[in-house]
Amino acid sequence: MSFKREGDDSSQLNVLKKRRVADLLSSFIPEDEALLLKNGQYACTVCHHRPVFHTIDMLSVHRGGKKHVTCLQNFYKKKAAHRNEVQKRRHEEYVRAEEAGEQRPAPLLEQTRKITQHALLKSAPYNSCCTRKRY
Ligand SMILES: [Zn+2]
Repeated sequence: MSFKREGDDSSQLNVLKKRRVADLLSSFIPEDEALLLKNGQYACTVCHHRPVFHTIDMLSVHRGGKKHVTCLQNFYKKKAAHRNEVQKRRHEEYVRAEEAGEQRPAPLLEQTRKITQHALLKSAPYNSCCTRKRY
């Protein structure tokens, strides 16, 4: 019995190598930047036109494209704006509660609790399964 790869087709080897690299890279796709659809295809959630790809390789190729990179900048700009807005509202709420004389948990404690929760979430594996939350 031999475990040696038969033949030395370098193009085949390159294809395998390329796929391996793409697979490795694909695990670095942030959870919120791609969506695994019910039919097994991947959708890019960064681009506003939501392009759909058959394989994760194709998605990886798309992610390297100029259009995607431009959309990525807007995506994170919007995200940062959203985060700022949330922070602003939270601060306003805090000030309002303070003025009303309500007792609130220490902000640092609250922050630490949130960081702990987030750290726990971070350890979860990449899962871009299509789970649309409806509220
Ligand atoms: Zn994209």
